[in-house]
Amino acid sequence: MAEIKELRCVIGGCSYRAAEDVYTCPVHGEAGTLDVLYDYAALRRDIDRDEISVSALHSCWRYKTLLPIDECSRVPPLAVGWTPLYDSPRLADALGLSRLWLKDDGANPTGSLKDRASALVLARALESELGVVSTASTGNAAAALAGLGASLPEIGIVIFVPASAPEAKIAQLLVYGATVLLVDGAYDDAFELCLEFCREQGWYMRNTGVNPFTTEGKKTVAFEIAEQLNWQAPDVVVVSVGDGSIISGIHKGFSDLLQLGWIDRAPRLIGVQAEGSAALAKAFAAGAAPESIQRAKATTVADSIASELPRDRAKALRAVRQTGGAFVTVSDERILEAIPTLAQASGVFAEPASAAACAGLESAVKAGLIDSEESVCLVSTGNGLKDIANARKAVGGELRVAADAADIRRALQSVGVL
Ligand SMILES: *Cc1c(COP(=O)(O)O)cnc(C)c1O
Ligand SMILES: [Zn+2]
Repeated sequence: MAEIKELRCVIGGCSYRAAEDVYTCPVHGEAGTLDVLYDYAALRRDIDRDEISVSALHSCWRYKTLLPIDECSRVPPLAVGWTPLYDSPRLADALGLSRLWLKDDGANPTGSLKDRASALVLARALESELGVVSTASTGNAAAALAGLGASLPEIGIVIFVPASAPEAKIAQLLVYGATVLLVDGAYDDAFELCLEFCREQGWYMRNTGVNPFTTEGKKTVAFEIAEQLNWQAPDVVVVSVGDGSIISGIHKGFSDLLQLGWIDRAPRLIGVQAEGSAALAKAFAAGAAPESIQRAKATTVADSIASELPRDRAKALRAVRQTGGAFVTVSDERILEAIPTLAQASGVFAEPASAAACAGLESAVKAGLIDSEESVCLVSTGNGLKDIANARKAVGGELRVAADAADIRRALQSVGVL
């Protein structure tokens, strides 16, 4: 286990001791999210990178010694993390890049990167013997908590989701047996209600940008990218951004590795937002402080990156600013087009929020934010089966045929297959 030295406020540097009821900085309010920091000199001394490389644990728990849980503590049994990193020459070609890797986090147990955060939060809940864990979510964080929670019978899960969440995501929650509150409102309304009930009932909050350990779970994706590239960081990492927690986790992961001396430079981070939910991209362009961001309407086909007030705004802006990265925005139309583009060039089927990163990568290359000679890692954050209705809008071309061989032959001839 990595012993926590302090929880430090991103806005003012205020320092706190770790406890399960410390969420955001009482001085700097909701924008003051906390970094989980360790004694890096001790970690450097005690942990050997090459020992991790030969670990037989093919999950995020191979990095247990760099995570804020006990070495011997119980973790959810599902295989979270250690997702594939694909070399993607055809997609690279299509985008005018020489080297592109695709990290497929849609391959996680519940189909998204959110499993990493939920797994860690649940491991901490087990350690502290907390009976109920709750979250508000646009769908994936909830599915992750419900699914991993179902593997731990002693923990009850209460979920707040906007009633507009895609059908498959709601079905997933119900199948896992969580208590599901479909809130007649936006994600941000569900979020506020979840906070209220957690405070009132003493439930453990998994909420993004509130629970500091979600970032620690998400950082494992950066550890994996580096390890899968033989402890090298790519020049650039591109990922889609809603609340800003994933990009912050990626930043934290590479920062930890830098402090350990296991990599010698961190990648530039490029965050992709939907045009209709672009609070962070706007703040970045304006050079604005995270505290100045106000809640504003958010609408996009990519439900997982719709956020009216990005909860991890301080960490996300810092991630991009500190690494010399950028934010780009993409239209819903381009997000939908990117679903088949990505799938047909790589075999990875991504949900809209995840395909948005691919559309954003294309924009970033065109805008000269990425040089064609640089190595790039595109993080695919969620599985395409999460939102079939939108995927269906992006593709056509099926051959309607009678149950008749002659008709099928004609159809195949019409498209040149025969
Ligand atoms: C949550 C999510 C995102 C965005 O992550 P944030 O931490 O909210 O920025 C992107 N893609 C998918 C599939 C997600 O579930
Ligand atoms: Zn503070």
